[in-house]
Amino acid sequence: MKLFIPYKAFINPKSMEYEVGKFAREQLEKLNVPIIEGRTVLIEGESSIENYVKAKKTIYLTVNKEKKLRHCSPSADYQFSLSSSCPGHCEYCYLQTTQGEKPCMKVFVNIDEILAVIQRHIDENLPNITYFECGSITDPIALEHLTGNLKRCVEFFAKSENGRLKVVTKYDHIDSFLDINHNKHTKFRFSINTKYIINKFEHNTASFEERIKAARKIAQAGYPLGFIIAPIMIYDNWQEDYKELLDKLKSELEGYEEKITFELIQHRFTNTAKELILKRFPKTELDLNEENRQLKWGPYGKFKHVYPRKKSDEIRDYIAQIINENFSNAKIEYFT
Ligand code: SF4
Repeated sequence: MKLFIPYKAFINPKSMEYEVGKFAREQLEKLNVPIIEGRTVLIEGESSIENYVKAKKTIYLTVNKEKKLRHCSPSADYQFSLSSSCPGHCEYCYLQTTQGEKPCMKVFVNIDEILAVIQRHIDENLPNITYFECGSITDPIALEHLTGNLKRCVEFFAKSENGRLKVVTKYDHIDSFLDINHNKHTKFRFSINTKYIINKFEHNTASFEERIKAARKIAQAGYPLGFIIAPIMIYDNWQEDYKELLDKLKSELEGYEEKITFELIQHRFTNTAKELILKRFPKTELDLNEENRQLKWGPYGKFKHVYPRKKSDEIRDYIAQIINENFSNAKIEYFT
């Protein structure tokens, strides 16, 4: 897919003290992106939908001051951020409820300080291996062309004896990672779904084919590889469509003999998310009918609506079956 070009960029003057900040500014200037210097981001839409759409095209170059990283269960020990928000408009995105009415993209330029915080967390956990997730509040590939920060992280982790990196993306701009030394210390996971779900609900992200092609290139470059199949939804023909997905993955990854991990997440929503989704996507065809769901207590202190036990068991068993039929080297890490 085409690289994301912001329609406006705000720059915190502090970010110009960093090499990456200066580099990012140059990229923005080359792309003719209007630049405004300041410590605040101004987005003025006439409705909440307009605010959302404008915010999703606006970036803010700034500094990440996080010193204590948050835990990141079940996929890693800690999460860190190179950016927040992303240019995608996935209707179900769980970040909708945490990023406010104007989810503009913060792009962090102080990469050496971010890596120093990571190193401290690795040191505190010695002699164990510490796993870091990069992608909990953003899509790190979607904005990589503006900074090159993720590439620096991959190179940092390549040299780290006790640190490992996990990346997750719905984008396909992975060419800058193919020729670098990764030492198998970074695992790329592609968030993938059926063609129907990607086309219907995951606007402004890479297509089904583009993601699978990117996954093949990453596999050929020798990286550890995984897939997050999420959110898994039940709809007419869902079983055929998920089978098509797994068949396609199998044919594209022929010859890749390393372990391939799968993380499986069923579709869920909270009441707050439903309200926001209906405001931002009034014509959404997401199934947000509570009557089709059962309540589950979530780790963030909110009830979420998940599929009833019988249906979620059916999803888990069916997807696990088609994964295992297609891949002898598959490991299903969890279903939730
Ligand atoms: S790409 Fe990921 S982070 Fe971005 S909107 Fe979609 S689900 Fe949310």
